[in-house]
Amino acid sequence: MITFSELGLDERLVQATDSLGYVNPTPIQEKSIPVLLSGTKDMIGLAQTGTGKTAAFGLPLLHLVDEKQRNAQALIVCPTRELCLQIVKELDLFKKFMPSMNVVAVYGGASIGMQIRDLKRGVQIVVATPGRLIDLIERKAINLEEIKYVVLDEADEMLNMGFKEDIEFILQNTPKKESTWLFSATMPAEIKRVSKKYMKDPFEITVGKVNTANKNIDHQYFVTQAQHRYETLKRLIDFNPGMYGIIFTRTKLDAQNIAEKLTREGYDIDALHGDLSQPQRDKVMNAFRDKTLQLLIATDVAARGIDVKEITHVINYELPDDTEVYTHRSGRTGRAGSTGVCMSIVHARESFKLKNIERLIQSPIHKLEIPTGKDVCRKQFYHFMDKLLQVDISHGDYDSYLPMLQEKFADVSKEDILKRMAATEFDRFLKYYENSEDLNLREQRRGDNRRENTRERGNSRMDERAGRGRESRDGREQRNFSGGGNTTRLFVNLGTKDGFYKSSFLQFVLDMSDLKKEVLGKIDMKEMNSWIEIDRNAAGQMIKAIDGKNYRGRKIRMNDANSR
Ligand code: AMP
Repeated sequence: MITFSELGLDERLVQATDSLGYVNPTPIQEKSIPVLLSGTKDMIGLAQTGTGKTAAFGLPLLHLVDEKQRNAQALIVCPTRELCLQIVKELDLFKKFMPSMNVVAVYGGASIGMQIRDLKRGVQIVVATPGRLIDLIERKAINLEEIKYVVLDEADEMLNMGFKEDIEFILQNTPKKESTWLFSATMPAEIKRVSKKYMKDPFEITVGKVNTANKNIDHQYFVTQAQHRYETLKRLIDFNPGMYGIIFTRTKLDAQNIAEKLTREGYDIDALHGDLSQPQRDKVMNAFRDKTLQLLIATDVAARGIDVKEITHVINYELPDDTEVYTHRSGRTGRAGSTGVCMSIVHARESFKLKNIERLIQSPIHKLEIPTGKDVCRKQFYHFMDKLLQVDISHGDYDSYLPMLQEKFADVSKEDILKRMAATEFDRFLKYYENSEDLNLREQRRGDNRRENTRERGNSRMDERAGRGRESRDGREQRNFSGGGNTTRLFVNLGTKDGFYKSSFLQFVLDMSDLKKEVLGKIDMKEMNSWIEIDRNAAGQMIKAIDGKNYRGRKIRMNDANSR
């Protein structure tokens, strides 16, 4: 195996990697560092976070820039403040034997005045988020004239976040650049276009498979009905004591509501979403990083660039619409050689999405049963027992209390003491799960008399609907919405005030009623109410499935608006 000193790096950088305990370069470092040391070669690195890509570009940059010159020679652009700070932190470690080398971070949400002062002091490498960089360029507080090296880190994330114009502006305004190094976890068409336009014959390195999720991640999914998502989430958290995880939701309202609900129920969770001020965001992130916060719930946008290691679980409260987003989400776990689990709570009709994701990540997603209440209690019991056996009693002065304890418990058996301890810890828990229902959406064989079966098994109306939903999928009831003729309009007392956007509302009514998108026409949403155009033959099923159900503590009213 090759060592850092064999890669041709400055001796002081080799020394730094030694002091950090890096024994060998990671594959991307081994492949990229010798090429990048020439300083005149463009490169595309297809690699995910956790592969050691910061050192892959950071070490050659530190090697190439001239410490004696006090003007910015290298520019690293990345999507978020967190990543920006993370990169600077790593570069600081690498340059610890290079006293004249200066690296400055410029990012939004912090005092621009301080950053301008930092830049004025003289700097060789600037690490920036696009928005703040443009701001500094416009204020003439930074000069990109002398920039020789441009690194675009997490380029796909930057494009996802709408920084395309900013990136192009930056690339157009670095006239003396000798090389551009682009790193991305995925290779969407937009990146290909940018690289074609601004890079010359780039050297390509792929670590792992393009678009693949990390091999250390176990992908799992759990099938339930839409209205059981929240309960399912709780089961999954309770079944995995010690979970240190991120839960992803599609909307910030969901993130907020679920966090509030779980907090009320005693879970250690906080939400990260776009409405938080920077200090609030920092507070949440610091608590999560310190592990004083066990769970973080976030939207995709709010979670971008978050770099927290040792995350054990990622939970998709709902699958993302864009399959590529799944790789960004799941990539938060299983980092730097550790293992992780990515769990998705899905509805039966989302199986096509799972297939697409499996194709993208080139790895199977395993279907697992949602644990029963009994499973959860058993798991918690084992966890409690392990904790009990591992408690460190060597430090406290427990011996001095022993006679008192022995006297107090003289007539209580060991079995009784254990039971009492378990009851203290578990009483509320056992009661909660005592009569808990099966949250799994059970498959039924084709041709069954579904109504008979569901009635026999005493299952809910929801299961009947699931049966009819499959009929639709088999094609017997299926029809395309024509937009005219045989349609009606349904009134429903839910609207934008309830936190719905049109797409989430459409998904919600379809999930609830197990109908196909084709039966729906125009959706007209107001603040308090909405009107849904629907195939007349499907209207009854939708009303039956939704009318009278509860949504966030409010009774849903749905009826045929035309027949009123
Ligand atoms: P990155 O992909 O740059 O976010 O790096 C992931 C983690 O791997 C960071 O914590 C690095 O400090 C660590 N790392 C990077 N290169 C090496 C290496 N050659 N040996 C051991 N750890 C490394």
